[in-house]
Amino acid sequence: MREDYDVVIGLEVHAELNTNTKVFCSCPNHFGSDTNTNCCPVCIGLPGALPILNKRAVELTIKAGLCMGCRINDIAVFERKNYFYPDLSKAYQISQLERPICIGGGVQLDSGKFIRLNRIHLEEDAGKLIHKNASIGTLIDYNRGGVPLIEMVSEPDITSADEAVEYLNKLRNNLVYAGIAECKMEQGGMRCDVNLSVKKKGSNELGTRTEMKNLNSFRSVQRAIEYETMRQIELVEAGGVVRQETRKWDDEKGESFSMRSKESANDYRYFPDPDLLSVKIERDLVEKLKAELPKLPMERRKIYLEEYSLPEYDVDILLSQKEISDFFDEALTYYNEPKTLANWIMTEVLKYVKTEEEFKMPLKAKELTEVLKMYDQKALSQANAKSLIEKLINEGGDAKELAKKYNLINDISDDAVEEALKQIIEANPKAREDYKVNPDKISTFFVGQVMRATKGKANPDKVKELLNKYLN
Ligand SMILES: [Zn+2]
Repeated sequence: MREDYDVVIGLEVHAELNTNTKVFCSCPNHFGSDTNTNCCPVCIGLPGALPILNKRAVELTIKAGLCMGCRINDIAVFERKNYFYPDLSKAYQISQLERPICIGGGVQLDSGKFIRLNRIHLEEDAGKLIHKNASIGTLIDYNRGGVPLIEMVSEPDITSADEAVEYLNKLRNNLVYAGIAECKMEQGGMRCDVNLSVKKKGSNELGTRTEMKNLNSFRSVQRAIEYETMRQIELVEAGGVVRQETRKWDDEKGESFSMRSKESANDYRYFPDPDLLSVKIERDLVEKLKAELPKLPMERRKIYLEEYSLPEYDVDILLSQKEISDFFDEALTYYNEPKTLANWIMTEVLKYVKTEEEFKMPLKAKELTEVLKMYDQKALSQANAKSLIEKLINEGGDAKELAKKYNLINDISDDAVEEALKQIIEANPKAREDYKVNPDKISTFFVGQVMRATKGKANPDKVKELLNKYLN
């Protein structure tokens, strides 16, 4: 039954911008403050209060557009979207309809498929309703009201839950890498609405779509799409009709239910906000913002795979957090061995990252490369190089100084290694006999003993060479 249908999905993704203050007033844009403390007459909508546009919010919206390959409009206009609901005390939201800041653009999936964007516009977030028990009722926190929000509206190009999640990931990574938004879904910093319809396979006639709201993790987006796809198919198969409506996803129950019939743009009676002038966006500003953008994940992936010849597995790990990728890129400027560097980062650095805290690399890129240079010059054994990394992470400071402080430098003379080996051979007559029968296995034993006696400073190849001399 499922395979007789195509599913057609468009996503509306909201992300809160990384500004210090709100979009139309100077209240702090800060998550987690005491309720109703980041508020003023403008953002709680008292009559007569006038909005003043935050330039930084416009700049970040332009940057978002540049990341997704959008065209930036020369003139942008703010409009009032009228609706009556207590999360917006003005009874309208300042948003954009006819002339948003960014037009077009899109995101390419790994398969090569391109998901088109219709637009990216800037608007104000609404307050947050907190539903308590029956005796208290519903409370409202206006701290979030007026926080700058971009809405990224895709064309209906997505055809599965997997594509939706990949698209969301790529959208989020671009915003995070470019410092536009933090996209913390668990704090509501990124939210997603799903528009979905089904149609008979290959048919050109689109089905009626529903909109699902309240999706606050990639997992709930995935589950909600799968649930809604099957709900619509089963309804159509049973001779029913899909109604155009807004549905609310319940993540605990794993199902969605109808909230209201879906509004169309006309229902909101949009009109240009008379309190705000239209915004002229100069080309010079767009060029300046473009120059500020860092290398985006797609571009880094291409360089890692093609220029550095790193395996896909390594690339995925290096790109999984901007901090890792920045660390790797910086380290490469001191130590130009991409694969060696990637190996040490993946095995000896990331194991010290505490996942329960905010992601942070545990040491400086330059210090890691100092360790690797000492190791390459055989001034450190491998064991001591690993131990030095651990000490750098625990204590910070300078790699060379720490290596001296803990006596890790390989400053032992050949004579001292030879002396240590002679004593070990004397003390282990049985191993000495066994060596004649099984030299490979027993040489490992001797090398280990010498390493221990010299506190990891002896060169294992040198020890093997000496073993040959004494036991053969
Ligand atoms: Zn305010």
